[in-house]
Amino acid sequence: MANKLLSTEKLSIGCVAPPGASLVNKTGAWRTQRPVFKQKDCIGCRACDLACPEGCVFGDPKKKQFDFDPDYCKGCGICAAECPVDDIDMVMEEK
Ligand code: SF4
Ligand code: SF4
Repeated sequence: MANKLLSTEKLSIGCVAPPGASLVNKTGAWRTQRPVFKQKDCIGCRACDLACPEGCVFGDPKKKQFDFDPDYCKGCGICAAECPVDDIDMVMEEK
């Protein structure tokens, strides 16, 4: 029931989607850029994970390896901007 209320089929143009709407409406198709998690100099600080507005960064701080879910990443670049060791690049999306 909750998922039906959040579906884009129920949303009109100009509506304000409720929190959590992106869980049922994949937002990755909006993207013009994508992050590349280089997994080279990562210190496991989780800044990327905590700053991502879509909650689509995942990883293991102990292994110092993070990545993102392309189904939900909007390509905003916040993760790359927040990474203190420049271990995330933003590149143009190839369609
Ligand atoms: S580019 Fe934006 S949406 Fe995509 S993983 Fe980084 S912070 Fe999240
Ligand atoms: S912000 Fe950078 S250093 Fe911190 S966990 Fe993410 S990739 Fe690793």
